Amino acid sequence: MRIDRINVYSAQLPVKNGVYRMASADVEALDSTLVEIVTDDGFAGWGETCPIGPVYQPHHALGARAAIAEIAPGLIGSEIASIRLLARQMNERLNGHGYAKAAFDMAFLDLLGQKLGVPVSTLLGGALTDRVPAYYSLIVGPPDETAKVAADKVKAGYPRLQVKIGGRDLEEDVAVVHKVWEAVGYKARLAVDGNRGMTVAAAMHLDRLCQAIPFVFEQPCNTMDEIATLKGRVTHPVYLDESTEDQNAVLRAISLGIADGFGFKVTRLGGLTKMTTVRDLCAIRSLPHSCDDAWGGDIIAAACVHLAATVEPRRMEGAWIAQEYIKGHFDQKHPVVIKQGHIAVPQRSGLGVKPEPGMFGKPGAMYGP
Ligand SMILES: [Mg+2]
Repeated sequence: MRIDRINVYSAQLPVKNGVYRMASADVEALDSTLVEIVTDDGFAGWGETCPIGPVYQPHHALGARAAIAEIAPGLIGSEIASIRLLARQMNERLNGHGYAKAAFDMAFLDLLGQKLGVPVSTLLGGALTDRVPAYYSLIVGPPDETAKVAADKVKAGYPRLQVKIGGRDLEEDVAVVHKVWEAVGYKARLAVDGNRGMTVAAAMHLDRLCQAIPFVFEQPCNTMDEIATLKGRVTHPVYLDESTEDQNAVLRAISLGIADGFGFKVTRLGGLTKMTTVRDLCAIRSLPHSCDDAWGGDIIAAACVHLAATVEPRRMEGAWIAQEYIKGHFDQKHPVVIKQGHIAVPQRSGLGVKPEPGMFGKPGAMYGP
């Protein structure tokens, strides 16, 4: 099984029902990049990377495609057997840019799974469950309206809600946390996500003004250093999300004891293979975490779910997928969908999803003979 051709596509994913609003950015449409690796024995493996606009992280769609252009020619003719060897080949072509390499890593695992006749979750160490919890993100919005959506989503079966705050008056953020708690109480676990948008002072005020409400406080401030200063000064558990830009950042946060859990994004961490390392580091310290990505279609969704299935369920904070916010699916027959707040783990070999032939139009770039 050798790589014969690599096709690169872009897919526009408009946000359903308007704008997706976070402290750091408003998003109306996403530019997703898909990698299709075709082998000499007729298999096709897929990978995807979809930065949530150019300002959420130091990642962007054009950057992903430029990185892919550096890497792809060097992979033609490579055997799909050792994921570690393929990772080394990518590193020999380009330093860094893990979010672009992540798309290749997904496609390699998809191919290897198809060849061996096993789902990707098996290649990641083995599934512990056949169904993983999802969680719902409540975008930055007015308190009463947000509380109503929260109640509806709990009724729909979501076991966890994430309340987005920041980028506005503290008063409104405090009100939204109280209103959501009044609406759902203990029926759902709560995360309050500042998406890096708060000062340390604002985070401390919000913590104190919402003292009795059990939530985890996700990435309130911009840097890991700012968040480190919250240790011992806030009473809510603090999770890191955007600050975990690579494996080393996770190791640093764990060893410094400044994170009580994490929101992990598969492409940001450099792909599924790298995610297994941070998953195992978290297991050593009993740290909960999610298995998400910032955005993306069915390929990324499947990748997140395969990984989530390998995490000890009591520490699994859920898999966030963009399905609630985008129209349609890449794979009509086997879409990755949320039902009653949970997602079935694909059981077919590889990632278990295949984009409909021709749906992305002509490749934006092609590599190979
Ligand atoms: Mg987050």
